[in-house]
Amino acid sequence: MCKLCKKEPVMFMAGEPLCKRCFIHYFEKKFLKAIRKFDLLKKTDLNVGVAVSGGKDSISLLYNLNKLAIRRRKLNLTALAIDEGIKNYRSLTLKTLKKFCKDNKIELKIYSFKKEFGYTLDELVKKTKIYKPCSICGTLRRYLLNKKARELKLKKLATGHNLDDEAQSILINQFRNDVSRTARLGPKTGILDDPRFIRRIKPLYLLSEKETATYAFLKNFNINSGKCPYSKEAYRDSVKNFINNFEQKYSGTNYSIIKSFLEILPLIKKSYKQGKIKSCKKCKEPSSGDICNACKIIGILLKNEY
Ligand code: SF4
Ligand SMILES: [Zn+2]
Ligand SMILES: [Zn+2]
Repeated sequence: MCKLCKKEPVMFMAGEPLCKRCFIHYFEKKFLKAIRKFDLLKKTDLNVGVAVSGGKDSISLLYNLNKLAIRRRKLNLTALAIDEGIKNYRSLTLKTLKKFCKDNKIELKIYSFKKEFGYTLDELVKKTKIYKPCSICGTLRRYLLNKKARELKLKKLATGHNLDDEAQSILINQFRNDVSRTARLGPKTGILDDPRFIRRIKPLYLLSEKETATYAFLKNFNINSGKCPYSKEAYRDSVKNFINNFEQKYSGTNYSIIKSFLEILPLIKKSYKQGKIKSCKKCKEPSSGDICNACKIIGILLKNEY
């Protein structure tokens, strides 16, 4: 029986049963809690972007932000999706996304690697043995989302990262000894305030992958459950399996990683605040070096001088 209303349970939260209605209420409250607790959306943030892929996380995010936008009438949402050009995968998730945005009257903009960089991800992957697909994909996607969000004059860009994603990112950076990347994590990303960088926010920060999947299922979002063909090769997948094994044995592992990380995050951000953001000599986008990572990757893959 549901611990709150005694109806049929659908989910166990910390060992306690919850029914469908109480679970949905719990999820939506936790979503709003993250926005309040981490001050993710100010009343003055009127134009907000939502980075979406059509998966369970981004659709759950978009649905809840849209609910908020209906209440806060001045909040205007634009969904931004990237079509990397991954055969038999991305077109399916974009189909779900287009339908969802149409049904919910949300403006959707789709940008493709092919149009913006001249090549699909599938074509770029064939050109290299050095770069892993996810490394090319992540760098170009982050670059494009920031550029487009800035051009659209969006104040913030919400992403669908959940608690498990963040715990994985923290460990990946530890395993790779990359503290500067860790400094950019957190519910609000970035270290330095710079108008060329659109701040990313993570309203699903306090919700686990399992909770998000359950929510999307109970809300009948009709998500395509296909997996990106490159995900098997991803370093993240290994770390995810590693933490999940731990989580199964010692429940609460993901949450503990996040909780301890949030305690030390202000110190890490402070010690990485001194760096200066330059402009990429090639594309003029913000960059920590003379040439930004996106131009470096494209340059190397096309055998330019970079
Ligand atoms: S799994 Fe890798 S290649 Fe596939 S969409 Fe994600 S980052 Fe891109
Ligand atoms: Zn209940
Ligand atoms: Zn560049």
